Amino acid sequence: MGKVFVFVNQKGGVGKTTSAINIGAYMALAGKKVLLVDFDSQGNMSSGVGLSKEKPTVYELLAGSVSASEVIRQTSVKNLDAIAASIDLSGAAIELVDQKDREYFLKNALESVRNEYDYILIDCPPSLGILTLNGLAASDAVLVPMQCEYFALEGITLLLQTVKKVQKSINPGLVIGGIFFTMYDSRTRLAQDVVMQVKSYFKDVVFNTIIPRNVRLSEAPSHGLPICKYDPSCIGAKSYEKLAEEVIRRG
Ligand code: ATP
Ligand code: MG
Repeated sequence: MGKVFVFVNQKGGVGKTTSAINIGAYMALAGKKVLLVDFDSQGNMSSGVGLSKEKPTVYELLAGSVSASEVIRQTSVKNLDAIAASIDLSGAAIELVDQKDREYFLKNALESVRNEYDYILIDCPPSLGILTLNGLAASDAVLVPMQCEYFALEGITLLLQTVKKVQKSINPGLVIGGIFFTMYDSRTRLAQDVVMQVKSYFKDVVFNTIIPRNVRLSEAPSHGLPICKYDPSCIGAKSYEKLAEEVIRRG
C-alpha cells in the first residue's frame, strides 16, 4: 500500500509547496509512482507543476461529484501525477465545518487510488485549520519544512502539539516523518544556530539534508516545472534529490 506524507507548517512561505513538488519529482525519477495533492486554495502546487486550475479540482473530489481517477492529471515528469486545487477550496473549508466526520473527507476521497501509488504527497495551506486536519487525518507521516529563523522554533512547538492531539483523536497511526531545513543561508550565524538547536532537541527526527536558498528553485514554478526539469544541475536540485532519497530510505 502506498505511503501518504503531508507537508505541514502553519507558518507561511517556509517551503511546503516547493518541497512537496521537488521531493515528489525526485521520487518519481527514482522510479516510484507518485501523486501530488494540492490541498491549498492558493493552488501554488498546481501552477508549479504546470496544471491549470480549471474544474474538476480537489474541491469537486471532496464534494463527491467526481472520483479521484477523474481529477488526477499527468505532469511533465514520468510517474508524477497531480490533483489540482483552486480558490474554490477555500469554500470547502467553510462547508466542511458543519459536516459529520469533517476531518476525513480527504482520506475517504483518496482511498480508491491509494494502492495505485508508492507515495502520495499532500501540500497543506499555512494554517492548522480544517483543511490541514484533513491532510493529517489522511496521512501516515508528517513532513515539516522549517526556515532557519528564530520564530520558526516557536511555530514548531505549536505544530507538534497539534500533531499530538491528532494522534490522540483522529489519526492514531500518524507519525512525524521528519523535520528539514529550507532556504538555508550558511553565511548567517542565526541560521547555523537554529539548525544546531533544532538538531540537539529533535535529534534523529531532523533530516541530514539541508535545502539551501537557491534562486533557481524560486524561478522554476513560474515555468510550471519541478527543478529536475528546469535546472537539474543547480544546488537546489541536487539538494532535493538527496532529500528525496532520504525520505524514501526512512520509509
Ligand atoms: P505557503 O505557506 O504560502 O503555502 P509554502 O510554505 O508552500 O508557502 P513555498 O511557496 O514553497 O512555501 O515557498 C515560498 C517562496 O519561497 C516561494 O516564492 C518559493 O519559490 C521560494 N522558495 C522556496 N524554497 C526556496 C529556496 N530553497 N530558495 C529560494 N527560494 C525558495
Ligand atoms: Mg504552499
